[in-house]
Amino acid sequence: MFWEEKTLNQMTEPEWESLCDGCGKCCLIKLEDEDTGEVIFTNLSCKLLNVKTCQCNDYTNRAKFVPDCIKMTQKDIKQYAWLPQSCAYRLLDEGKKLPDWHPLISGDPKTVVEAGISAIGKIETEEGVEEEDVVDYIVQWPKI
Ligand code: SF4
Ligand code: SF4
Repeated sequence: MFWEEKTLNQMTEPEWESLCDGCGKCCLIKLEDEDTGEVIFTNLSCKLLNVKTCQCNDYTNRAKFVPDCIKMTQKDIKQYAWLPQSCAYRLLDEGKKLPDWHPLISGDPKTVVEAGISAIGKIETEEGVEEEDVVDYIVQWPKI
């Protein structure tokens, strides 16, 4: 099991990519508290996210449509303190194990939904929502 034998920095690109469970929580619109720097989640998704599958509609060309989309790499993982507690990158960086519902353990991506980790069914698209109304969509559950 490469995730038990290697550090994040030692992983190949495909290994690194396979750690993502597809929960979709990092594709939600986030706000930053000006005073504390705390990152606050909303249940609005990036306009490019398919809210039914939590897959990016154009991952290859996403930078064209969403210039601030983040590509996480091994080098800068520490910058992403806001990642959900369930996120494999965070778990492994903190020396924790992958949970039983993770697709690399269960062998089935559906377990992410069954365990209530996925954002599927809990979100709506940001499209059509006015910027000043985004605060109305603040939620806590994506942190978990
Ligand atoms: S929060 Fe982590 S596991 Fe979930 S989609 Fe984002 S990178 Fe993947
Ligand atoms: S562009 Fe795609 S990968 Fe990036 S935040 Fe939006 S949906 Fe997620």
